[in-house]
Amino acid sequence: MPNSPASVFPVVLDLQMPAGILGPDPVTSNVHCFLVPHESGVLLVDTGTPGSDTALAAALTQIGASWSDVTDVVLTHAHFDHTAGLAAVLAAAPAARVWAGAEDIPAVDAGGHAVLALKDGDHIRTLTVLATPGHTPGHVSLLDEAASLLLVGDLVGVMGETLSRAPGVFTAHAAAAEESLHRVGALELSRVLFSHGAELADGTVALKALADHP
Ligand SMILES: [Zn+2]
Repeated sequence: MPNSPASVFPVVLDLQMPAGILGPDPVTSNVHCFLVPHESGVLLVDTGTPGSDTALAAALTQIGASWSDVTDVVLTHAHFDHTAGLAAVLAAAPAARVWAGAEDIPAVDAGGHAVLALKDGDHIRTLTVLATPGHTPGHVSLLDEAASLLLVGDLVGVMGETLSRAPGVFTAHAAAAEESLHRVGALELSRVLFSHGAELADGTVALKALADHP
């Protein structure tokens, strides 16, 4: 297991999927949010499941920060397990700016708080936005160019120890997702972090291999 990065701190939340969604049995997984410190505060990637604010507050404390340091919330996509914690996050950090891919904004419930549109190539604090549509129409991945580290969202994820595409049942446009996978597979990365599943020691190699084998 690689060391925790200085630039990005994962926050791991338990995720239970009921029977009948990914198969006949319930599936226990996890979903990650990420704290990304920058020179004037902390950027939060995704807000997780309901109740995530407890774990997020603890993680902020661990890096020597608090809710008032949260300047930006960047949503990789509008799915429930990435956005359901948003209301509680905004209650704790009401001054934070919220960002999402333009095509996903209509599906984000921000309780009346403005959601700003991300487009490909945008720089939000230390991260560069890569439009990686397919899983959802406005799905984005986030590149920390200084660390050569990619937050890939739900384009791919780890089930057990294996890197795989997001389950088809959750993906809106498989062909677009495949194009996005090729795009990130062509990047030269030091690390790749997934929204679901732990970091893999050979994650960047596994990502390229998956992109090369549709
Ligand atoms: Zn998703």
